[in-house]
Amino acid sequence: MATPKLTIVSSIQELPDSGCDALVVLSHDLATIPAPFAETVHTAQQVDAQVVNKTSVLRCSAAPAQRLVVVPTGPLDRDYDDVRRFFDAARNAALIVRDTGAIAPVLWLPEIPKNTTYEKAVEAAWFGFCQGLYEPLEAREHFGENVEPISAVTLIAETSQSASWLQAVEEGRRVARDLCGTEPERMSPMKFAEYCQQAFASTSVKVQIIDDKPQLEHEYPLLAAVGRASFGTSQRPCVIRLEYTPEGNVDETLMIVGKGITYDTGGADVKTGGHMAGMSRDKGGAAGVAGFVKAVAGVKPQGLKVIAELAAVRNNIDALAFVADEIITGRSGKRVRIGNTDAEGRLVMADCLAHLTELAANEVNPSLYTVATLTGHAALAKGPYSAFVPNGPAMKTGLVNDLLAASETWADPAELSPSRREDYDFVRGRTKADDLLSSNNGPSATTKRGHQFPMAFLNEVALLHEHGNNSDKPLPYIHIDIAGSGVEGGDWQHGKPTATPVLAFAGKFLAR
Ligand SMILES: [Zn+2]
Repeated sequence: MATPKLTIVSSIQELPDSGCDALVVLSHDLATIPAPFAETVHTAQQVDAQVVNKTSVLRCSAAPAQRLVVVPTGPLDRDYDDVRRFFDAARNAALIVRDTGAIAPVLWLPEIPKNTTYEKAVEAAWFGFCQGLYEPLEAREHFGENVEPISAVTLIAETSQSASWLQAVEEGRRVARDLCGTEPERMSPMKFAEYCQQAFASTSVKVQIIDDKPQLEHEYPLLAAVGRASFGTSQRPCVIRLEYTPEGNVDETLMIVGKGITYDTGGADVKTGGHMAGMSRDKGGAAGVAGFVKAVAGVKPQGLKVIAELAAVRNNIDALAFVADEIITGRSGKRVRIGNTDAEGRLVMADCLAHLTELAANEVNPSLYTVATLTGHAALAKGPYSAFVPNGPAMKTGLVNDLLAASETWADPAELSPSRREDYDFVRGRTKADDLLSSNNGPSATTKRGHQFPMAFLNEVALLHEHGNNSDKPLPYIHIDIAGSGVEGGDWQHGKPTATPVLAFAGKFLAR
């Protein structure tokens, strides 16, 4: 049924007399649930003590269609509690609500702690609920859209964001989940591009697909090297360029690159020992970027311009596939020695980032980002959190701290990973034969600073080091590694895509 139609009312008295068919109450303390629902909860507790710690469906004549669904969030006041208590409670309750047969539930958070941690609790509950309801693209194409039967949601809340804003951002998250989660034949590079064309068809976002082999070899030579074993096949690579230009003046320009490895075999350094399953999700960065641009298309912010390049490539193997030791000159002129073909993500993003760095010279107040499921090291170091690796200007201007704060408030949390001199030493060319080394040849998870040093590579290969705090034109740049946060539970084979970093970006750049 796609994203449920959202309506917001400011109090329970404003609920319409008909049309809704369940009241879902999220609360950390059932004693605060007001009359007339309190009596039903109290009666239920007399026969089932578990009502305080698990979702319960209760019959209540005062609730729409007599369905009262009580969802305890657990405690909210410990040092380590955050707004995800509401997100997770709503997500976990979503399928219970769906399976009651309700198609138009009401979400209500009668008691929200009054502090900044829970400032966006209502919004988090909405996004969590939609996360729970989402079914994969393959399931919708097989069973039809009715596999997601809930068609409408009413929120009882005072929120600074409008229903249309919340719905537009959720549409973006949906695009991100579809693109990340879908299997590698249904979502080959060109099908990824087609999906984007359809997703942006009736919007003001311009979509350009670059799939011509000589053009890719000329303008995106490192990407073309990764795609070498896929040219001339149904899995041929492409670059997808998305551009949103606001009406009126531009005050700020976001320039974002997404890693869209539609399948990662590892290339000639083939993944062995069962490590290949799940690698259709190696396009989660590009998926998250496309999702954010979809949210932008729906919200239509003033003053904000967005340019994105998505590198959609299958990391394939054939007789002439690129191999370690090759030296390939990137778009910027930097000669890159390949250290390991399984470190392909930074290579497909390198020329896109170099291109956006060139364009940044003529844009208003630009900032640059790379978003990628880049390293096992990030997943190990950060668990389910995204890693933000900023350059000097992103630190000095406060950009990275603002984005971190938004990620926390909007239930899409990330952690800071500073970039250090050792990272630059690590990627430096060892002889005059080359300028940069793409990677060492061990697994990132057992490499010191395994998720930080790739940012140094990207910074150098795109010539962003010429735009540090010591330059005439500093350019803020943040590398975002979502290898730990891209799918639920870190389960790359079966976990539902999280759509990160759509919420963090929407919270920072699109929210009021
Ligand atoms: Zn790889």
